[in-house]
Amino acid sequence: MNMVVCVKRVPDTAESEVHIDASGKDIDKSKLSFGINEADNYAVEEAIQIKERLGGTVNVISVGGKDSDEQIRMALAKGGDEAIRIEDPAMAGSDGFAIAKALAAAIKGMEFDIVFTGALADDDGSAVVGVALAELLGVNHAAYVKKVEILEDGKKIKVGRELEGGLMEFLEMELPAVLTIQTGINEPRYASFKGIKQAAKKEIAIKSLSDLGLDASEVGEAGSWAVLEKFTPPVVGEMAEILTGEPEETAAKLAAILKEKGLV
Ligand SMILES: Cc1cc2nc3c(=O)[nH]c(=O)nc-3n(C[C@H](O)[C@H](O)[C@H](O)COP(=O)(O)OP(=O)(O)OC[C@H]3O[C@@H](n4cnc5c(N)ncnc54)[C@H](O)[C@@H]3O)c2cc1C
Repeated sequence: MNMVVCVKRVPDTAESEVHIDASGKDIDKSKLSFGINEADNYAVEEAIQIKERLGGTVNVISVGGKDSDEQIRMALAKGGDEAIRIEDPAMAGSDGFAIAKALAAAIKGMEFDIVFTGALADDDGSAVVGVALAELLGVNHAAYVKKVEILEDGKKIKVGRELEGGLMEFLEMELPAVLTIQTGINEPRYASFKGIKQAAKKEIAIKSLSDLGLDASEVGEAGSWAVLEKFTPPVVGEMAEILTGEPEETAAKLAAILKEKGLV
């Protein structure tokens, strides 16, 4: 099974205070810590588990600056074989579709059975890249995948997709395919010390747009369907009123407020 995993370096915006920068088109990332996008960590684990069961290769790809090597090397340390990083100044302002174009251009020349992406990026959260990538590669796809079973000597797969309320939808499809992985599909491993040392020596192939046969007009704002206009901070409502006192007292105060506002 030859597999490709797309990984994105993302800032930790869940546990940190987030501020909009002076451009109004990005967040101030100077005080944020960065890591691998959570869903991509599960995607890496899924590919490595399949390789351990059936053999094959795991190729790691990221679009991003040199800092992304940290996340690429961690995926290599866990069992990835080769890596590509796509970097080009013209990528600035790319939406999910333009990112998918760059990834597709890199993957098209490879022999692959499954391409894994995360279902959603923790920062921009478009949930677009994986599905757009499948369309550009002209292969089957399944999104929000939480179970993968390889069938018939690796020619077909059965996937379980997570729907609302935890309901699972099972599909069979022919390979090659792109799967967008949902968190919780497996238990991502920690990289071993030996793996980290070996990964440090592995080459990461850096590809520019011209290496991929792409023109600058196909990515960035020019090649995107959506252009970011601005970020706005969340609207802060009126301060909450905290009722204090014994339960009977606070219940009476609450009832009075609800009556006064005409809510009961
Ligand atoms: C204002 C602005 C400026 C930007 N500037 C740049 C820039 O300078 N350079 C640049 O490269 N991008 C840039 N981007 C692109 C942006 O960071 C996202 O990668 C892109 O919009 C994809 O959307 P998403 O992250 O919501 O993807 P989603 O569709 O939510 O992501 C799903 C999955 O797709 C894969 N994926 C997403 N992004 C990448 C990636 N970069 N590499 C590998 N796999 C990926 C991951 O597996 C991820 O789990 C910019 C975007 C904006 C809005």
